[in-house]
Amino acid sequence: MATLLPHVNSVKEKALQIFAEKFGEQAIVCVYAPGRVNLIGEHTDYNDGFVLPMALPMVTVIVGKSHNDKKTRIFSLSNVVGDINEFEFKAGNRADIKPGEPKWANYIKGCIANFICDVPAFNAVIVSTVPAGAGLSSSAALEIATYTFLETLSGKKPEKPELKALACQKAEHDFAGVPCGIMDQFISTMGKEGYALLLDCRDLITKQIPMLHLDNYVFLITNSNTPHKLSSSAYCERRDCCYEAAKILGKKSLRDANMNDILVLISQNVSESIVKKARHVVTEIQRTLNAAVALQKSDFQQFGRLMNESHDSLRDDYEVSSKELDSLVSAAREVDGVLGSRLTGAGFGGCTVTLLRKDAVDKTIQHMKAKYSGTPTFYIATPSGGAREIS
Ligand code: ADP
Ligand code: MG
Repeated sequence: MATLLPHVNSVKEKALQIFAEKFGEQAIVCVYAPGRVNLIGEHTDYNDGFVLPMALPMVTVIVGKSHNDKKTRIFSLSNVVGDINEFEFKAGNRADIKPGEPKWANYIKGCIANFICDVPAFNAVIVSTVPAGAGLSSSAALEIATYTFLETLSGKKPEKPELKALACQKAEHDFAGVPCGIMDQFISTMGKEGYALLLDCRDLITKQIPMLHLDNYVFLITNSNTPHKLSSSAYCERRDCCYEAAKILGKKSLRDANMNDILVLISQNVSESIVKKARHVVTEIQRTLNAAVALQKSDFQQFGRLMNESHDSLRDDYEVSSKELDSLVSAAREVDGVLGSRLTGAGFGGCTVTLLRKDAVDKTIQHMKAKYSGTPTFYIATPSGGAREIS
């Protein structure tokens, strides 16, 4: 059975109850932001390419209330926070906020520091159903939920949602020290029920792609429960291969390259590692565009084929899969009714995403469980809405 996700309202009720117990009054502001799954377009973001994520029904809820004393106090119910599940710091001038311990608080402090104005001190409680460290972007859900909370608290919003996503990305870079791309913050902000989001990472132009006639099909997320551990050196190595390939070709980025350029690299005796990394990026960018067209035409067979090709390219050319992810993907593909399966996120652990017929869900889960050496967790992923205030 897939894990049943609580409705956002019951997550909110739980957060409100904890807030009342902890702070002895009722919270007034309630917001949430979703996690996300990237359907296709992996390692294309830093090559100016396309990505195609959708927002998930897994959410991070923040409830709270401003007050007149000088201290902001935040409590998180998450099991990733360790022993220190609560922290407080002096509110006031946002330019004075600095990162520190506990580490998880830096995502929140970074958003306050990068908000459009100073905010009053507040108390807040965070409850999330996005598994942390699984590649479903609990970090962006936390940032976008925080920013949405600050918007509601202050009554002020940036002119465009893009600016909110960029401010939260900056928070993750500068305060959490994670050099993330922009996809997660965009989809957590702009997700729309029933749609995937095609994002052009070169100019940040977005297009909502409707998932019509999905009725008989569904996306299944499988958490391998091996944390996604793309070490920063492995990540930088691959990124540098891409930049090197673009430089050899005299292009600004691999976004401007095509399959002929891959042949040029081969003819120039460029190292096999660089050729393979470049080939993944060039083919993945094209696959992502093709997948968006297939989705729009409700051509799920074609979408599934592209998912399979994406995984194979990540495994063989980009070399970011793992034996756990490969085993889950192979098991899924063995089941009748599965149209496509691939790793999602940066790789080396985390989750897979599978497109399959609804009536094949139970037997697919059973087969994947039987074939996998670890203990996977399953979620049905419906294309959900982006961050908002909950009335
Ligand atoms: P992912 O975004 O794929 O879930 P990351 O490593 O980018 O993984 O982000 C996970 C980190 O984000 C956690 O280790 C923690 O610091 C922070 N985080 C996410 N959700 C919460 C939460 N609900 N409460 C506190 N910290 C959180
Ligand atoms: Mg993250």
